[in-house]
Amino acid sequence: MKIAVSSCLLGARIRYDGGHKHDRFITDELGRYAEFVPFCPEHLAFGTPRPTIRLVDAKEKHIVQSNKDGRDLTEQLMQTSRSELEVLEHSSIGGIIFKSKSPSCGMGSAVLYRKNGYAEGKGNGVFAELCKVAFPLLPMEEEGRLLDPWLRENFVMQLFAYDDFERFQSAHPGMNELVAFHQSYKFMLQAKDEKAYRALGNIVANHDKLAFEEVLKHYELLFKRAIAQKSSIGKTRNVLEHMAGFVKNLITPVEKSILHEQIKDYANKIIPLITPLGTLDMFAKKYEVAYLLGQKFLHPYPKELALRSDMRSGR
Ligand code: SF4
Repeated sequence: MKIAVSSCLLGARIRYDGGHKHDRFITDELGRYAEFVPFCPEHLAFGTPRPTIRLVDAKEKHIVQSNKDGRDLTEQLMQTSRSELEVLEHSSIGGIIFKSKSPSCGMGSAVLYRKNGYAEGKGNGVFAELCKVAFPLLPMEEEGRLLDPWLRENFVMQLFAYDDFERFQSAHPGMNELVAFHQSYKFMLQAKDEKAYRALGNIVANHDKLAFEEVLKHYELLFKRAIAQKSSIGKTRNVLEHMAGFVKNLITPVEKSILHEQIKDYANKIIPLITPLGTLDMFAKKYEVAYLLGQKFLHPYPKELALRSDMRSGR
């Protein structure tokens, strides 16, 4: 999968002061599974090093102003942002990670100033705003928010599910394949958005007898919106109980009580999600429960990322 990333997060010495903001999780962990497409609209516009810039709130659109002499640099930054966007549009990317707080790359965290110099609030940087409009369904996050284990786990789950859908779609599937794809995402979708899971089921059922291409288009839109939702401990607990239902008549009373104890402990934030999921996975393998073994929720991304081992990955 290809992920577009702010160059400074990849370690490029490209910030206004010639420094970088190398993010080890991105390069060392995600980098094992992704190819990066770097971008830096400010370096393209102003070179490195360069005077800092700020976003000045001007009602309809923000103005980019030099902190050095107050010059309006909006057009220059817009031009390089558009050309960086064009590169991304031709790169088949499956996600974007932005540098937080930057007037170009910040996603909701760029400080907006009033004309009198006081900070007014926060918003999107110039480039992040263009990306949000151009790729409304693409997984996007800031590196700052990815420090939160819950947001990190949800984002990585979204990245891999998005990539999975793209691969699925490019293999020219038919209706049977779509039914199987939907089935394999049952528990992940339920952990994120139960309503969307049901709506997706209705799309797959195709009561209106639409052409398959039409069905797939509807499915894609809703699927990509659903995987962008965040799971919660409450929703995940329901999913775990539901999964337990698939093995309840196969496991011994002792195994059953261990499993339910683990689910309860997970819900009470005593143990991480990986514990009850690992137990369910083991029972599914031991008793050959194909339906559970095919669930993406059991293995949504490479296990080496170990994101579900963190107690703080549930909220
Ligand atoms: S413009 Fe973006 S990529 Fe370039 S240095 Fe600033 S935050 Fe990093």
